[in-house]
Amino acid sequence: MPRGVDRVLKTLQEIVGRDYASNEEAILMPYSFDLTWNEPRMPDYVVMPKTVEEVQRVLSFANRERIPVVPYVSSTNIGGLCIPEEGGIVLDLRRMNRIIKIDTETHYAVIEPGVSHAQFSRELKKVGFEFGWGVHPASASVLAMTLQHGIGHLNGRFGVNSQFISSMEVVLPTGEVCKIGSCAYSDEWHSLLPLPMLAGLFIGWLGTTGVVTKLGVWITRIRPYKDVLTIAAEDAESMTKYMVMWRDLELCDEITAVSWWLAQIPIPYPYQEKPPDAPEWFSYTVISGWSEEELEYKRKMWKEVVAKARQKGCKLIDFEYPPEAKRGRTELPSRIVGSTKNYSKSCGGGLAWPGTFTPAKNWPILYEKMKEIYIKHGLSPATRFTDYRGAHYGMWRVMTPFDKRNPEAVWHARQAMREVVEVGVKAGMIPYKPPVDYWNVMNAHADPGWLMLLCKIKDCLDPNHIMNPGKLGIR
Ligand SMILES: Cc1cc2nc3c(=O)[nH]c(=O)nc-3n(C[C@H](O)[C@H](O)[C@H](O)COP(=O)(O)OP(=O)(O)OC[C@H]3O[C@@H](n4cnc5c(N)ncnc54)[C@H](O)[C@@H]3O)c2cc1C
Repeated sequence: MPRGVDRVLKTLQEIVGRDYASNEEAILMPYSFDLTWNEPRMPDYVVMPKTVEEVQRVLSFANRERIPVVPYVSSTNIGGLCIPEEGGIVLDLRRMNRIIKIDTETHYAVIEPGVSHAQFSRELKKVGFEFGWGVHPASASVLAMTLQHGIGHLNGRFGVNSQFISSMEVVLPTGEVCKIGSCAYSDEWHSLLPLPMLAGLFIGWLGTTGVVTKLGVWITRIRPYKDVLTIAAEDAESMTKYMVMWRDLELCDEITAVSWWLAQIPIPYPYQEKPPDAPEWFSYTVISGWSEEELEYKRKMWKEVVAKARQKGCKLIDFEYPPEAKRGRTELPSRIVGSTKNYSKSCGGGLAWPGTFTPAKNWPILYEKMKEIYIKHGLSPATRFTDYRGAHYGMWRVMTPFDKRNPEAVWHARQAMREVVEVGVKAGMIPYKPPVDYWNVMNAHADPGWLMLLCKIKDCLDPNHIMNPGKLGIR
């Protein structure tokens, strides 16, 4: 038992109550690992605050004592981001699970960190609204997802979920609480603009600069008419060209393509050859509207794009998704697509990805390079392309199950992913929610001024380096 443990535990229990702070091994253990290949590490304490004041007191105490603090909700981030590199306190925020406000007139909601996708979607649905739901476990945190540039089903229309952020309340590593955006001036949480964009000090920082205790997010009305249009392609080049032509019209909520390996349930592990007569790519696009006429117009435009793409040489193949798969795309968050057992249970429990923002024009070439790397390491190239907000950026990611029980298999998975990031960074690939391995590759290629700025901001906000230390690969 580390020195001073009893004194620390006693203080933490005074803050949150006896039942909500612990240093018992059996309680700490589940917080020491996640699905990925990141090395497990035990925290020294788990603390579950209920109020902002409790978060403030925990952080101010940890800062004084220089104890690391890792913000945590369910650790499904697939990046090892909640594994406590240097021990310390895991701050489990699941008890802070109130939906504070749903404003159906100004279209925003205010939520706490512990609000799950299932809970938020249920409450929004009651009043005819929705948010960008991904294919994550429905029990995970909306706030944590949104803060780390989460990806949801409205991203083709609006961009990634962090672009829905409209205000926030944050506790700094030194314990002070502050509001950012319109909520700094009134009880309206509707907008970050036209103020200085200080929210950027906490968005995408992986819990290394503070603890967000409330988040305002834009919500949108559920359109009553929806359809899912599907098509397959022989190769990545054809699929990408078609996707670019279709998204250029900005008519869809989402457009995604998956390689044959990602379309299998479960993803083949180890690598399995695709049957020669099966298309290599499958895509779906979700369209929505206020009337059947609007939907019909979008269907007509889509058919024209498909015809034009064929004229331009895209090898597209007519293909209908089964009804259940279509339902899975319009009824999110879903129990079908968000289930980790679809990905990793059958192969030994490991799951990771190079999940990235990559310009669409580079998807096919990176796919071919990645395929070589993955097959060399015995892994399936289970790849997804998704377009965000018209042409500006898009997702390129490879869902990678592997056998966690076998050290050699873990090595291959980790090595394959590192090699992919190494090749991709030079082609504009930027990993999201990156594990430290990826930061190390990215930082080796980064502009020195950018790294200096990251360090300066981190030092300024977190002078004792207590917040989720080690996760950015810089300090
Ligand atoms: C099979 C599968 C599919 C997935 N698909 C998607 C998808 O489609 N889209 C998507 O976006 N994600 C996806 N994910 C990732 C993940 O499930 C979601 O992003 C999820 O909502 C994150 O919530 P969490 O509770 O697991 O966050 P955690 O993993 O607990 O936290 C994520 C990060 O945020 C930090 N953090 C947490 N709370 C706070 C806070 N209050 N203040 C500051 N920092 C904080 C943590 O320290 C950590 O760095 C998927 C995961 C799985 C397993």
